[in-house]
Amino acid sequence: MADAPSGSSAPSAPSDFIRRIIADDLRTGKHDHILTRFPPEPNGYLHIGHAKSICLNFGSSLEVGGVCNLRFDDTNPEKEEQEYIDSITRDVRWLGFDWADRLFFASDYFEKVYECAEELIRKGLAYVDSLSAEEMREYRGTLTQPGRESPDRHRPVEENLRLFREMRAGVHPEGKYVLRAKIDMAAPNINLRDPVLYRVKFATHHHVGDAWCLYPMYDFTHPISDALEGITHSVCTLEFEDHRPLYDWVVDHLDLGCKPRQIEFSRLSLEYTVMSKRKLNLLVKEGLVSGWDDPRLPTLAGMRRRGYPPEAIREFCARIGVSKADNRVEVGQLESCVREALDASSPRAMAVLRPLKVVIETLPEGHLDRLTLGNHPKRPELGQRSVPLTRDLFIEADDFAEISPKGFKRLVPDGEVRLRGGYVIRCREVVKNEAGEVVELRCTHDPATLGADPVGRKVRGVIHWVSADRSLPASIRLYDRLFLRPDPEEEGQDFLTMLNPASLETVTGRVEPSLADAPPEARFQFERVGYFCVDQDSRPGALVFNRTVTLRDSWAGGN
Ligand code: ATP
Ligand code: MG
Repeated sequence: MADAPSGSSAPSAPSDFIRRIIADDLRTGKHDHILTRFPPEPNGYLHIGHAKSICLNFGSSLEVGGVCNLRFDDTNPEKEEQEYIDSITRDVRWLGFDWADRLFFASDYFEKVYECAEELIRKGLAYVDSLSAEEMREYRGTLTQPGRESPDRHRPVEENLRLFREMRAGVHPEGKYVLRAKIDMAAPNINLRDPVLYRVKFATHHHVGDAWCLYPMYDFTHPISDALEGITHSVCTLEFEDHRPLYDWVVDHLDLGCKPRQIEFSRLSLEYTVMSKRKLNLLVKEGLVSGWDDPRLPTLAGMRRRGYPPEAIREFCARIGVSKADNRVEVGQLESCVREALDASSPRAMAVLRPLKVVIETLPEGHLDRLTLGNHPKRPELGQRSVPLTRDLFIEADDFAEISPKGFKRLVPDGEVRLRGGYVIRCREVVKNEAGEVVELRCTHDPATLGADPVGRKVRGVIHWVSADRSLPASIRLYDRLFLRPDPEEEGQDFLTMLNPASLETVTGRVEPSLADAPPEARFQFERVGYFCVDQDSRPGALVFNRTVTLRDSWAGGN
């Protein structure tokens, strides 16, 4: 990808503590190359939090000439699906990163992980336990009380091996036995109180089919997978900090030829949304959004559909930085990255969201000016387009006010305004319907003002417009925040009760005819209105646009 980040843009000083560790490890010779991994579990679509992790894992390695693996951490067959694998690979690529031929599945290591378990059993470091889940919880103790040893803890090695092999062979039902590490039931860190390594599950796995009825736990699989791939720095989020001693225990007690270092950083959370895949899944399954790619979701698929450029998301991840401090980032920060990227790259066009008819009485019926307008004010290389100006036009309803608010620079009765790229017009008459609503403005135009200032007076306002008969109708989706509160779960709230009922408003607007064939994902700035992109539902004759973001930060003021 042309715009993908590359090693050549390496910053001179490491920008965060993880990059600093990596730089130190290279400088001291601890490592002569860097290998990281991004390890998604294929149980949902990627969201912007994952983007932070992707940018960090790929970025920190690429910048120092290293590489990054994409590895599916697929140890839980019940929640994982091929659809998620496909979406994840698509989204990582879209974000601009390339794992080349280093796509891996933890499930491809199941045989090796199994051998590691037998090795621990033979070393007297793991045992088959028959405590029920409830008993195991009881025996585990609490933060203030040490745990108790299971009666099975001293089962002889041979018997452990036999039972473990029987578990693999499907002899025992789910829940009868588990394999546990033998570490320390009195350890202050509860993760070290003989954690479960394996459980029986008669489940078909999306990647390895029915090969297994015995599945390793994440905490056991992950360090082994990292070591097998030769990962140098295993970067994960803070909730794994307390699991690090177990991670280290696993790599220390197995002979895997490599000891990756686990480093934790804080998760990204964003205001007015939720980020956990379980919650996103609920929104999708309950039909509260249109799918994983609903443009209101923080998923990468949703953001792509909404029109966010991948470079804006990468820039956002760079700006928020990497640390161990938890905080909720303002949506405005993400949106300003989106605006900056789109301002530079989007061609301009005119569209009217809430049309109000304007008739220029001083133009003859059938009049047509073919105006040539630049696609971008600062980038002539983006070309020009032809925009028809006719006697009947549409302007934005709120660009007219019968009683002008203070500072209003748009159209008022008997006032003048410039049509962007066209004439200065004057409003002569306001036509209303029986309900007293304004339905049409009768105007005159000054023919000397096409591309020229009016003589003897100043006209400050400029408004956008489209031809009434030559513009195209378009369904325009206006998105607002999905939740009513910055933290939808504040004070133990059920987040589903905090949904913003006005998060999507669809209007039928009018767009200039040059947009007739714009393909899905094409992005535009609708002048004075905001940034929009063509939705995948759009068809010639039935255009659909999504509002990506407003022109300015109108977050507090709604649309
Ligand atoms: P979720 O809580 O959304 O289900 P997860 O951690 O279970 O997230 P994984 O598929 O395991 O999802 O995540 C893959 C990688 O992305 C992990 O290394 C994880 O730490 C990281 N990650 C997940 N969510 C975030 C986040 N909000 N911010 C930063 N990194 C994240
Ligand atoms: Mg996870």
